[in-house]
Amino acid sequence: MKYDRLRYDMVEKQIAARGITNIKVLAAMHTVPRHLFVSEALMDQAYSDFPLPIGEQQTISQPFIVAEMTQALMLTDTDRVLEIGTGSGYQAAILSQIAYRVYTVERIHSLYVKARKLFDQLGYHNIIMRYSDGTSGWKDESPFDAIIVTAGAPEIPAYLVNQLAVGGRMVIPVGSQYSQDLIKLVRDEKGIHQTNLGGCRFVKLVGEHGWKKA
Ligand code: SAH
Repeated sequence: MKYDRLRYDMVEKQIAARGITNIKVLAAMHTVPRHLFVSEALMDQAYSDFPLPIGEQQTISQPFIVAEMTQALMLTDTDRVLEIGTGSGYQAAILSQIAYRVYTVERIHSLYVKARKLFDQLGYHNIIMRYSDGTSGWKDESPFDAIIVTAGAPEIPAYLVNQLAVGGRMVIPVGSQYSQDLIKLVRDEKGIHQTNLGGCRFVKLVGEHGWKKA
């Protein structure tokens, strides 16, 4: 009950009030129990306007950035989405409410295991997980209608862009390890079109085609 109320306020005051209008995004954020994606000690803060630690020096993103990135993907219920950086699993859970199927990759084993358990418990059966370095994407399941990278990259990994379908959309934070720009890419028959959605701050995308060191 308490969390239902906090979640309602989060969507109204942080998400809708700041210009997120996509009905499916708002509905997903109303539905997914964000407090279950953080440790018990942090549950009361789960609906606050900031990121929170999830262990292993990683974070669950601020609610607004989750909404903004999800809206930018312009998802439909037939879309197959690739996420790099499962973390707590919250972003994947939001995507799973809107898209047909979510493929999510995590490089830290303990986070992968925790998220897997949670997806089972909550019945998110359209989320498929993989424990590996996601900077090379997921070739066997490509192309994807949408790709979301939830860790900051030094540059856009070409492997990922190559796994985007024609008509596909991708969002990725790109920049230094301290601050990035949220870049949106759209692929059409003519090529790749890029726009900058503004500044953001994410933990590092670590891997063969990302930052070499954690
Ligand atoms: N989407 C997450 C945000 C987690 S923070 C959520 O909703 O909670 C970013 C995550 O990206 C971390 O868990 C980190 O371990 C993971 N990550 C960083 N580099 C990665 C890589 N190369 N492949 C897969 N996951 C990666």
